[in-house]
Amino acid sequence: MNMIEPAHFITEKLRGTLRSNVPMCQHTSWRAGGYAERVYQPTDLADLIVFLRTLPADEPVVAVGLGSNLLVRDGGLRGTVLLLHAALTEMRIEADGSIYVQAGVSGAKLARFAAKHNLKGAEFFAGIPGTLGGMLAMNAGCYGSETWNVVANAQTIMRSGKLLEREPDDYEIGYRHVALRKKGIYLEHDDARIPNSLPFHQEEFFVGARLRLPAGDGEVARREIKALLSKRIASQPLNLPNAGSVFRNPPNDYAARLIEQCGLKNLQIGGARVSEQHANFIVNVGGATAADIENLISEVQASVQHKTGICLHPEVRIIGEYARNHE
Ligand SMILES: Cc1cc2nc3c(=O)[nH]c(=O)nc-3n(C[C@H](O)[C@H](O)[C@H](O)COP(=O)(O)OP(=O)(O)OC[C@H]3O[C@@H](n4cnc5c(N)ncnc54)[C@H](O)[C@@H]3O)c2cc1C
Repeated sequence: MNMIEPAHFITEKLRGTLRSNVPMCQHTSWRAGGYAERVYQPTDLADLIVFLRTLPADEPVVAVGLGSNLLVRDGGLRGTVLLLHAALTEMRIEADGSIYVQAGVSGAKLARFAAKHNLKGAEFFAGIPGTLGGMLAMNAGCYGSETWNVVANAQTIMRSGKLLEREPDDYEIGYRHVALRKKGIYLEHDDARIPNSLPFHQEEFFVGARLRLPAGDGEVARREIKALLSKRIASQPLNLPNAGSVFRNPPNDYAARLIEQCGLKNLQIGGARVSEQHANFIVNVGGATAADIENLISEVQASVQHKTGICLHPEVRIIGEYARNHE
């Protein structure tokens, strides 16, 4: 790949912010990890289109929302990170009663907006500390609800800057799994050797979605949001940096239950520790490197596999390169 200096990207039409050597610990909820070579924060969708059109075809690009499900290895990311949470923030009710939501809107804002318009079924988004883009990519969910259950269609942008409208049928959608059926284009890629490790490049990104929600009562929705948030505060270690559940639940069981049963609560590597409060959370108790976190993930995985025969698959996405001194 040719090295591209930031100056080469800048045209008169760009209105966003391009920065070099950005510590991704500032953009991930684990507050750990390496540097991104470049980060572009567009001003809006039109600006994102222009930016993508100006990019050389071989520049690796990855979209990041609020980084609440993401570990960037200590060696960092080559290419450009698109930071979408402060950029794609439009939300409106359409003529047919559906909601158009852009990918940078947070779950909390989306849930409140739906309640304000007396729609129900979006309450669960309130407790997920990510953006709609990240929730579409992950099929995020909780308490029996999942993102794609309420998606009528999704708006995406190709690496070339071309906008597309996609139907749910275009995707293979499962538990914390979303992949385009069309071969050759991926939103998710599982490397068999490193479960949930992504290539450092995406060909297509979510920029918005139309959600269909049934009519409800705003007051009831607000009460439900409050109850769901209280439940989280009581059960999750929200006082320390974390990325939510680290592992997907295996069929008919809970990752947290298995990890606890194997006596792994409080297991610590460097600054990364298995939470005492919720065994499927790894918390950064101070100064954790991405390697500490990834090593702890592997350790927990190996120990649970050894003691129970069950293989836990990470839910968190791990991207980027190992630090040079990585063993
Ligand atoms: C305290 C806590 C509680 C949590 N609880 C839950 C929960 O109850 N349920 C749940 O499912 N998750 C939960 N999570 C995990 C996380 O919030 C979700 O996975 C969320 O959907 C991630 O959104 P994000 O914007 O932060 O995505 P990021 O972490 O920024 O990105 C995650 C992945 O999505 C990709 N991505 C992001 N934006 C786009 C886009 N626009 N287009 C294409 N790909 C994109 C990224 O490249 C990356 O692969 C929790 C996390 C925390 C810290």
